[in-house]
Amino acid sequence: MQGNIFVISAASGTGKTTLIARLLQHHSDIRVSVSHTTRAPRRGEENGKHYHFVSVPEFERMIEEGQFVEYAKVYGNYYGTSTQSLESLTRQGVDVILEIDTQGAEQIRRLLPQAYSIFIAPPSLATLEQRLRQRAADAPQVIAVRLAEARNEIEQARLFDYLVVNDDLTAAEAALLHIIKSQRCRLENQTPFLNELLGSGDNT
Ligand code: 5GP
Repeated sequence: MQGNIFVISAASGTGKTTLIARLLQHHSDIRVSVSHTTRAPRRGEENGKHYHFVSVPEFERMIEEGQFVEYAKVYGNYYGTSTQSLESLTRQGVDVILEIDTQGAEQIRRLLPQAYSIFIAPPSLATLEQRLRQRAADAPQVIAVRLAEARNEIEQARLFDYLVVNDDLTAAEAALLHIIKSQRCRLENQTPFLNELLGSGDNT
């Protein structure tokens, strides 16, 4: 059985990465595609695990060679999903999450209409600002840029299939899980099972 593809986007500071990390920890049949990026690793980030960290010339070479399903420039750095990364996961039959920005989500919607898109929203803009300021990983000027971008990104939520509000982490994780699991029960995703069931020749 082929797994489904889920695009998950959010304005930065919404807690998307924490939310997805929890989901992955609890469900081994849900995996996230590891993106390539030209941004520098943050403390604690491992090459090949959080991202494939590459140079700008290397990333541009991969663009020219058509190695990305989607890519975008976010806050001055390149980010992209390689076809190889995505296919190695979909082949395993697991559900695959693409944790990407709204520009990438738009490209996936066009290219892979069978993918489902989920937007994670903060409970309020004030909460988002507070979370961004508490996060020590970025310099103040980076935070200012991200705040200005946040509103624009949230406006893009209208283009997504689902919206999950990340007010309470446990509740948001449960909502995400229900969205992901329910797609498996869609009839089009159960056709191989149904064919096998009926093809068994046993009508009892
Ligand atoms: P960060 O630098 O905080 O890890 O990520 C910044 C933004 O880039 C986030 O919105 C994240 O979802 C997005 N991003 C990460 N990987 C990809 C990718 O492969 N493609 C696109 N389009 N965006 C990505």
